[in-house]
Amino acid sequence: MAKKIVSDLNVKGKKVLIRVDFNVPMKNGVITDDTRVRAALPTIEYVINNGGKAIVFSHLGRVKTAEDIAKNDIAPVAKRLEELIKKPVKFVNATRGKELEDAANQLKEGEILMFQNTRYEDFDVNANKEVKKESKNDAELGAYWASLGDVFVNDAFGTAHRAAASNVGIAANVKETAAGYLLEKEIKFIGGAVDNPVRPYVAILGGSKVSDKIGVIEALLNKADKVLVGGAMMFTFLKAEGYNVGSSRCEEQEFVDLAKNLLAKANGKIVLPVDAIVNTAFEDIPGVAKDVDKFDQADMGLDIGPKTLKLFEKELAGAKTVVWNGPMGVFEMKNYAQGTIGVCDLLAKLTKEGASTIIGGGDSAAAAEQLGYASKVSHISTGGGASLEYLEGKELPGIACVDEK
Ligand code: ADP
Ligand code: MG
Repeated sequence: MAKKIVSDLNVKGKKVLIRVDFNVPMKNGVITDDTRVRAALPTIEYVINNGGKAIVFSHLGRVKTAEDIAKNDIAPVAKRLEELIKKPVKFVNATRGKELEDAANQLKEGEILMFQNTRYEDFDVNANKEVKKESKNDAELGAYWASLGDVFVNDAFGTAHRAAASNVGIAANVKETAAGYLLEKEIKFIGGAVDNPVRPYVAILGGSKVSDKIGVIEALLNKADKVLVGGAMMFTFLKAEGYNVGSSRCEEQEFVDLAKNLLAKANGKIVLPVDAIVNTAFEDIPGVAKDVDKFDQADMGLDIGPKTLKLFEKELAGAKTVVWNGPMGVFEMKNYAQGTIGVCDLLAKLTKEGASTIIGGGDSAAAAEQLGYASKVSHISTGGGASLEYLEGKELPGIACVDEK
């Protein structure tokens, strides 16, 4: 089951609709990080370098009120695209209408057109109310956007877990749909780990809560050979095992019970930390390493400890597929980032040894990027919620709508 990708398309002379993820962070109309624009260049370049006419579009932020319209104007992103791709980008400040239709029809081979934030369609300015036409996949809107082009390329993974007019709506109304290079990479790595992991397959889970990730934990328990647990989540599991977790972040009894069930079902697959770095307050001052059976009431575990890192290294030895979601500790604090850095190092080493190493999830992906591991692991996912749902084994509408080869 292989998906069609952009390079499988004959784009010459065709108007190619390209859904990108240009949902960049902005402050007062200025882009603070253009990684996502850079990441979309290969797909757009393939289209224009092969005689296609590129029609590029994306959502930006959420548009629920009239104020959100001005706040989420995507024009500065079109400007940045122009600078990065070193070609003119014709920007139409509308999501429909004659100006947009004329611009699409007048495009010449190798030219680029970009239109306004797709989520402007989520708010009806005249009626002054939220209508969610883009976000709720309004049938008329998807068909309209499809009518602007000949073929469709979806390269936006971050929104692939939601059916919108700008992904499945368009796909339902064009003859051909392919994945862009970014989406292709997500399918190759996350899809590969879900459908057909090379074993041994080890999952690492952390982050704040068990309750956020029940689906992912269960899916990984079914699929992986081992599941290593860190982050605040470890304390819900340790409490389920009967340990005193002191003042660490831990969830209510309901989830402690759930953790107990998962441990019982896991047949020894779940590996819990043996020590943690503790502090007595949630602040960025040095803590001390303590074994998990030695916690006092005041102890607050903010990171995994050195013995745990050694244990995880042993469990990961020889792994061929590693999936990681959720930081090992409060990595935002310098004193509690060592566990997360340590796991990044372990993944970097395994990658060199030929393993497929995949990091998914909003904060974990951001942590790995910030810590400088982007080029040292096989894949850092570009989607937060989308990568979690994909790891759960759910079918993502934005991928399902892409044609098979
Ligand atoms: P992701 O976005 O990668 O899925 P989560 O959102 O689940 O990850 O969790 C990330 C958050 O978990 C971080 O902000 C981090 O500070 C927090 N965290 C990790 N370990 C601990 C801990 N021991 N105590 C409190 N918070 C923690
Ligand atoms: Mg998060």
